[in-house]
Amino acid sequence: MSDRATSTPSEVLAFIALGANVGDAKGTVQSAIRSMAALPHTRLVRVSSLYRTAPVDADGPDFINAVLSVLTKLGVHELLSELQQLEGLAGRIRPYKNAPRTLDLDILLYGQVCLDSPTLQVPHPRMVERAFVLVPLAEIAPHLVSTTDLDKVASQTICRLSDEGDRFNPRP
Ligand code: ADP
Ligand code: MG
Repeated sequence: MSDRATSTPSEVLAFIALGANVGDAKGTVQSAIRSMAALPHTRLVRVSSLYRTAPVDADGPDFINAVLSVLTKLGVHELLSELQQLEGLAGRIRPYKNAPRTLDLDILLYGQVCLDSPTLQVPHPRMVERAFVLVPLAEIAPHLVSTTDLDKVASQTICRLSDEGDRFNPRP
């Protein structure tokens, strides 16, 4: 898999989906992006626009979603652990399946790795069903998303937060 950034041999290009629909969801997502840029042995490659979406199979208010890519030397399980720590720091609790969430961080792709373990499935098994994943992913990595994929989720409402101030701002 290639991207604009040049990777060193030990780095893997990973794609991560972000979602939040509790409290200051936009602020939480922006803060999580900054936190991911600061993860050990990891550098940010691309960040999508932020999007607003209606909940799919979930409760609560609209979500703020985005997708980013990183080059990382973390193993895939280490990466999941780091992401779960960030979810915890954002106050994530899991009172029931698909509950509203302060922050959800999912690994979509990790290089070419295919993994199906009890705690981690990669590629993310539901990514192709979700406009809130495919639309931002297509923005930063159009070669990974086909128009057929996008057509299948075309009925799901998704709006880009298009104001300049709604784009990710690397400065807090
Ligand atoms: P979901 O994101 O499916 O709505 P959660 O965020 O509560 O639900 O995650 C439930 C579990 O999904 C996590 O504890 C994690 O072990 C597992 N999981 C499996 N594959 C992945 C993945 N690719 N990215 C993130 N979590 C995953
Ligand atoms: Mg999750």
